[in-house]
Amino acid sequence: MGTLSELHFVLVPLAAQGHIIPMVDVARLIAARGPRVTVVTTPVNAARNRATVDGARRAGLPLELVELPFSGPEHGLPEGMEAVDQLTAGAHELGMFLKFFQAIWNLAGPLEEYIQALPRLPVCLIADLCNPWVAAVCERLGIPRLVMHCPSAYFQLTVNCLITHGVYDRVDEMEPFEVPGFPVRAVGMKATMRGFFQYPGAEKEYHDTLDAEATADGLLFNTFRGIEGTFLDAYAAALGKPTWAVGPTCASSTMADDADSKAGRGNTADVDAGHIVSWLDARPPASVLYVSFGSIAQLTAKQLANLARGLEASGRPFVWAIKEAKGDAAVRALLDEEGFEARVKDRALLVRGWAPQVTILSHPAVGGFLTHCGWNGTLEALSIGVPALTWPNIADQFCGEQLLVDVLGVGVRSGVKIPAMYLPAEAEGVQVESGDIEKAVAELMGDAPEAAARRSRAKEIAAEAKAAMEEGGSSHSDLTDLINYVSELSRKKEHKNSTALPSAVAELGGKDTG
Ligand code: UDP
Repeated sequence: MGTLSELHFVLVPLAAQGHIIPMVDVARLIAARGPRVTVVTTPVNAARNRATVDGARRAGLPLELVELPFSGPEHGLPEGMEAVDQLTAGAHELGMFLKFFQAIWNLAGPLEEYIQALPRLPVCLIADLCNPWVAAVCERLGIPRLVMHCPSAYFQLTVNCLITHGVYDRVDEMEPFEVPGFPVRAVGMKATMRGFFQYPGAEKEYHDTLDAEATADGLLFNTFRGIEGTFLDAYAAALGKPTWAVGPTCASSTMADDADSKAGRGNTADVDAGHIVSWLDARPPASVLYVSFGSIAQLTAKQLANLARGLEASGRPFVWAIKEAKGDAAVRALLDEEGFEARVKDRALLVRGWAPQVTILSHPAVGGFLTHCGWNGTLEALSIGVPALTWPNIADQFCGEQLLVDVLGVGVRSGVKIPAMYLPAEAEGVQVESGDIEKAVAELMGDAPEAAARRSRAKEIAAEAKAAMEEGGSSHSDLTDLINYVSELSRKKEHKNSTALPSAVAELGGKDTG
């Protein structure tokens, strides 16, 4: 009795790949220190992440997935629609999002039942910021609760500064402003800097999220102090909460050696990872551009056509993850009937669906990443040392672009100015012409001194990221501190397993395994 292995963490991710992937990573990191970890999610999301969890279990980690029943159909969602990417694929009306979040909120009952059926209460629940309904469950059961932020500290601090200084209330959607009270000069507009749920119709979700964060016992971020220390410290001070940076989770050595887990992160790939690796093996180092817009953003057929022409004109080899090709007939026509794929077949590999992204990015042949600046993709590029061509769409992505280009100096802008939804319908989302893409790819991957400087800065950051995750590194120490803090907190709250906790803390403090 009284060891780390007697601590039990329960993690509650949001049902979106950009949130589940890093939370499953965190689960693995905690389990690698000794505690037992359970990730609770819905059946579809469990199936998508089972390969990763099974890989961790094969490696001996005390990690499990538990499925909670999802009441989507009761809320008007089609059977099997359980994740955010399924809402954006195809022409679903916006109201689907609200139905989806109502069904997510309904997981509170099944979560509470699951916990009450356990022989002992967990030491802590870690809930995604977008799962504020977990707060009431923890409150009722007397369990400590942490909030995990899946976007950057840069983004969360931006939103916090804009709320605190009343900016959202006094500016128009497209009115440029400088973010007040921010550690670096950052210019944006409401349209590019909205927080989660800051949309008409989602007021309850928005306020619940702020309340759940304000009442949490601490906050964790998938980032590292080397790139975001200033923003993290400012955020911790603003919220007055213990705040830990435990990433980049994708750079942990507990993940690095497991090829299957790497290839199956977040979903089953729609292409054989081995085939992509062989294709990349035949290309010179740093010669290939990888193109992906993450799990959610959908480009219009016209945007895709411009991008296709720009990539073709760039003359560079590329791997392009085109999830739109799965459902959109216009996109398939562009690739097949208009002959794009045939024309570029000697130097391009098209993935029609889910790509094994980390496998691709971590191949030495990849030398650039055309990214929508989702935080996970951004961290993956940073921790591998690949410079970025930035093409933000929504949410935190414009802040991701600022961090990559203006703060870290490892990115080139494609030229997107605002989320596509603010454009007139006839623009069909287009802000970047094929010539812009050709020029930006040359700027990113060419031989100019600025390009070389970007590459070497990216390599330096990757080394810092790796060091942060190793024993003695800042993120490794932050995770130790988080586990110690939670153990102490749980003991103070005097819940059932309190007798076991003091020696567990001593064990971690002394051993600090990883
Ligand atoms: N991803 C992947 N294959 C794909 C698309 C995305 O493995 O074809 C992964 C990617 O590596 C990242 C996550 O899905 O870990 C997407 O998260 P991100 O924050 O980059 O973007 P989001 O999808 O949330 O917009």
